[in-house]
Amino acid sequence: TISIRGAVKAYGDHRVVDGIDLDLPAGSVTVVIGPSGSGKSTLLRAVNHLEPLDRGVVTIGDETIGVRLHRGRDGTARYRELPERTILRQRARIGFVFQHFNLFPHLTALENVAEGPIAQGVAADVAKQRARDLLGQVGLADRADSRPRQLSGGQQQRVAIARALALSPEVVLLDEPTSALDPELVGEVLGVIRDLAATGCTLVIVTHEVAFAREVADHVVFLDHGRIVEQGQPAEVLDDPRHPRTRSFLARLR
Ligand code: ATP
Ligand code: MG
Repeated sequence: TISIRGAVKAYGDHRVVDGIDLDLPAGSVTVVIGPSGSGKSTLLRAVNHLEPLDRGVVTIGDETIGVRLHRGRDGTARYRELPERTILRQRARIGFVFQHFNLFPHLTALENVAEGPIAQGVAADVAKQRARDLLGQVGLADRADSRPRQLSGGQQQRVAIARALALSPEVVLLDEPTSALDPELVGEVLGVIRDLAATGCTLVIVTHEVAFAREVADHVVFLDHGRIVEQGQPAEVLDDPRHPRTRSFLARLR
């Protein structure tokens, strides 16, 4: 289980994440929805310490991500940044898929997927074989040697998903994985995510695809102004929302 406790992140005096508590049980699929600027990306980026929190903490199992609790001589406890190499090791436990794919343009699909494990010390032939298997899993076995610019957006995003899986993470965070895609390419990427969900991967997905959320989510969280306004099962939050802000947001999506 991954736990977010008391998460606060401000830019200047604007609290973008304003006191969030959330549990992500192993094997669960959590969908995060909310208006533009509500803090969805910032929250996701805080989970793997791409965006250090001002307050609060993220734990995976018994580890706090990016920081450790330090008790001063006077007994006051505060969090201190962990060394960079520890943070990199922790990030290997958390896969991340970005809206704009973020593949290395000069590397092939196979090299993009194998790069993380090789950087972590996995033997190149082992990493490449695993990368081949993962490309097969996302339906791209025949595109291993293509570079990103030779692939469609949907194919690039599938490579990015394979890359996020390469280090066998305990959770995969996906930030609007289909919103940069042409409509006809959305389905193939959602299909890959659906397969992941079915294999018991722990997922957190920021998406505006309500029908998809209804189908795959165990838990839906509606975020507004950096706070969780409403959360629950998809049927509750998506089909019978209690809060007027959730209602008006969903009405605008339709
Ligand atoms: P969207 O749906 O548009 O992706 P979001 O819910 O992901 O929105 P965030 O990207 O988390 O929202 O941003 C939340 C707020 O924080 C926005 O008002 C944004 O302008 C602000 N913000 C994000 N990153 C920074 C930054 N590095 N410096 C200053 N403000 C920032
Ligand atoms: Mg965002």
